Amino acid sequence: MSQYNFTFSEVMTKKTKPYGKDLAFGRYFTDHMFVMEYHHQKGWYDGKIIPHQPLTLDPASMIFHYGQTVFEGLKAYATKDGEIQLFRPEENIARLNRSNERMCIPQIDPDLALAAIKELVRIEKDWIPKQEGTSLYIRPFIIATEPYLGVAPAKQYKFIIILSPVGAYYKEGINPVKIAVETEYIRAIKGGTGEVKTAGNYAGSLIAQQKSAAKGYTQVLWLDALERKYIEEVGSMNVFFKIDGEVITPELNGSILPGVTRKSVIQLLKHWNEPVTERKISIDEVITAHKEGRLEEAFGAGTAAVISPIGELVCEDNKLVINNGKTGETARKLYDTLTGIQYGELPDPFNWIN
Ligand code: PMP
Repeated sequence: MSQYNFTFSEVMTKKTKPYGKDLAFGRYFTDHMFVMEYHHQKGWYDGKIIPHQPLTLDPASMIFHYGQTVFEGLKAYATKDGEIQLFRPEENIARLNRSNERMCIPQIDPDLALAAIKELVRIEKDWIPKQEGTSLYIRPFIIATEPYLGVAPAKQYKFIIILSPVGAYYKEGINPVKIAVETEYIRAIKGGTGEVKTAGNYAGSLIAQQKSAAKGYTQVLWLDALERKYIEEVGSMNVFFKIDGEVITPELNGSILPGVTRKSVIQLLKHWNEPVTERKISIDEVITAHKEGRLEEAFGAGTAAVISPIGELVCEDNKLVINNGKTGETARKLYDTLTGIQYGELPDPFNWIN
């Protein structure tokens, strides 16, 4: 038990775990969830772990109308010895509070949030799948629950954590995916909400994803909103290019989500003394590097897929086949190292595991 003494009401009947099934992503949920209330005169109160169940909310709840909400995504991994490992949860909690600040949602005590995640995962530890590449996805989120139709920050919220056993995010796994450069829609702009995790960013990106999926692409590559020139992210991952031996990722510019995986990739490359640069990188630079045979690799990085190599990048009339459509050595080494640390098979030199 943590110092916070969250009350616990256990389910009467536990669900059958989806063992042996294709878990895919985010389809199954565990037996319990964490819920905590906020009222502007009381602060956060009444943290409890209860059976995973539907919510009852007034239809005037502000979340439904103006989308005042934030979320996070991280994973718990089971080691071969049966230990539970969380990967850099403090980073997700810090980002949750940055998202809260941007969305006018009250801050959450980081120690309390970590205790809530750990306590829920401990109770649900039998739900952590054991097959290779699987994990227990943790989804903390906050919604504005005050019933009010005025456009203003709500006075009441719920902080909820749900858990979902997951397989590999992409059907293709670590195999390279096909990406289309998005030239019509934009994801985010400096001064907007793109650098935090709020639902509207994702709702607004669905149409690009839908259209590119219809043409056979796994995700889109987002360009900057102003000049439609500089690369920002790939789908809901940060993106890296290896050109002439140097790994380049777009610098955090106010419209890019600062990924925990991105940060970890940069730290690992520096640790290995491999050149890594955070700077603006244009789509033209990538196309030229490819024409000149200098584009060695491209890959996305995020919690869900860890590392997702890009085998083919299509930008209008240019079709770039990268590294013969195969996983490059940097992407492979990063994937092996990150997953090795996450599953407790490699040492954790940076104290990333909690
Ligand atoms: N960009 C976006 C838009 C995302 O939603 C995510 C997933 N949180 C990422 C990048 C990758 O972030 P992380 O490595 O923290 O999962």
